[in-house]
Amino acid sequence: MTSFKTLPDYAPEKYHDFSIPENRAAMEKAIAKIRSGFGKKYANIINGKETGAEKYFASVNPGKSSEIIGHFPLATADQAVEAVESAWKAFQTWSKTTPEHRAELLLTAARLMKERRHEFSAMMILEAGKNFAEAEADTAEAIDFMEFYAREALRYAQPSELYQMPGEKDEMFYLPMGVIVVIPPWNFPCAILTGMTVAALVTGNTVVLKPASDTPAIGHMVAELLYEAGFPKAVLNFVSGSGGTIGDTLVAHPKTRMIAFTGSLDVGLRINELASKVQPGQIWLKRIVAELGGKDAIIVNKDADLESAAQGIVASAFGFQGQKCSACSRAIIHRDVYDQVLNRVVELTSKLTVGDAATNPNMGPVSSERAMKTILQYIETGRKEGRLVFGGNRVSEDGYYLAPTIIADVKPDAVIAQEEIFGPVLAVIKAENFDHALEIANGTKYGLTGAVYSADPQILQRAKDEFFVGNLYLNRKCTGAMVGSHPFGGFNMSGTDSKAGGKDYLLLFLQAKSVATKL
Ligand code: NAP
Ligand code: MG
Repeated sequence: MTSFKTLPDYAPEKYHDFSIPENRAAMEKAIAKIRSGFGKKYANIINGKETGAEKYFASVNPGKSSEIIGHFPLATADQAVEAVESAWKAFQTWSKTTPEHRAELLLTAARLMKERRHEFSAMMILEAGKNFAEAEADTAEAIDFMEFYAREALRYAQPSELYQMPGEKDEMFYLPMGVIVVIPPWNFPCAILTGMTVAALVTGNTVVLKPASDTPAIGHMVAELLYEAGFPKAVLNFVSGSGGTIGDTLVAHPKTRMIAFTGSLDVGLRINELASKVQPGQIWLKRIVAELGGKDAIIVNKDADLESAAQGIVASAFGFQGQKCSACSRAIIHRDVYDQVLNRVVELTSKLTVGDAATNPNMGPVSSERAMKTILQYIETGRKEGRLVFGGNRVSEDGYYLAPTIIADVKPDAVIAQEEIFGPVLAVIKAENFDHALEIANGTKYGLTGAVYSADPQILQRAKDEFFVGNLYLNRKCTGAMVGSHPFGGFNMSGTDSKAGGKDYLLLFLQAKSVATKL
């Protein structure tokens, strides 16, 4: 049995350096292996059984539209109902298993993913358009979540420290909640999907997992891995299908106890509203974890290390094509150093390569044709709202490749300075002074990540006190949160601030029962 005391301390996974030929070759081999399995018809797992559907949809490589990753069942609303009801049935026994047993299974899953990490990364390179380092960071984060939450589940199983009333024995236990509907986004299709799913399972809940429709194959790989590690099929239902069709059914079902969602603001608001309406037969208030969008800013003060700031902006704005909730979409630069930083950002951006993710460029394709069209529309708006200084165009005919795009002299209240674009588009904004920069940075409805570059400790202290974001970074880029070090979650419309990868996270999947026994 795994015990809290004998496990080695948590430490994050290390990354490979893909400029080393044998590391690159190992990833290319994994890509070839994953490709050789393309085109097959997948099944959903509902009520412990492989389940097809009348209609299927294709998951397509966003960098090569002729390449079909696989065909996935378009689940019906009836199947969604069956998934919730069977998960509720499975909860009756799964909730009685011990935290030690569940943590053991999770550590087994982590070990299996470590052994096959390049295959998971390869699937994301092909299905989501991540380059090698971005894909590996996603896989490593999934492993980190499993290692971290396994330890956390054991910690929550320890006796609570309570003040003992005279003449009583006072105790408190953490119990699982019930059926948790897990709805992840396509942009961290391994890490976020794994993190939310295993947080629910290791705490003794059962799950209905609906993967994002742009990335069902990587989601299916994770589900298969969890089954292989020993999680019973009945406790993890895998239900692919359109969020628009089955999402409402899953969220509204009276036996759904909680929804763990990560995705866009619009969908998050809809879930929040629907889940708050009590359905016939429902006997609890549904809990919602909803991690949503961002309009993240990097502030460069006049005393900053300008080279480091420019590099941080480019890495945060264009890594994974700007499709991170933490991506820098606004660079807010002090007027005294504005031209200098802008010129350097443009220079560094002009060196970025864009191409097929399987050839490991700096930037691959954006996620879908729909995403590409939305981003191009925002770029058109941006051309009117500011001065296009780099990019602005689609890069090739096939695949959804966009040039990294920089729009300078943008006003703080412009559309492209307020709305989440979720693509490789950076708005550069001039600030009169640091007060003004902070006011601009805090001037959207979001509050997810942010960074400040300055050599002045007083300025950094002011950022700690006044920059209203869930994840603040000082003198470094605003992407790349690490499990265990940077618990992740945003303020305001960026979500419920659940702090994934932190010590408070599993509590969201538990309910506490207090017991007082008269002695
Ligand atoms: P999305 O469009 O909101 O989709 C997220 C998930 O919701 C998908 O699985 C989607 O299914 C499903 N869905 C759609 N309509 C639904 C409905 N009516 N009811 C229930 N589920 C429904 O978001 P996305 O494009 O995948 O992801 C990008 C967004 O996620 C960005 O806004 C980004 O900032 C945010 N994000 C936030 C964080 C964070 O930690 N704060 C992290 C990553 C991403 P289909 O795919 O079938 O439509
Ligand atoms: Mg796709």
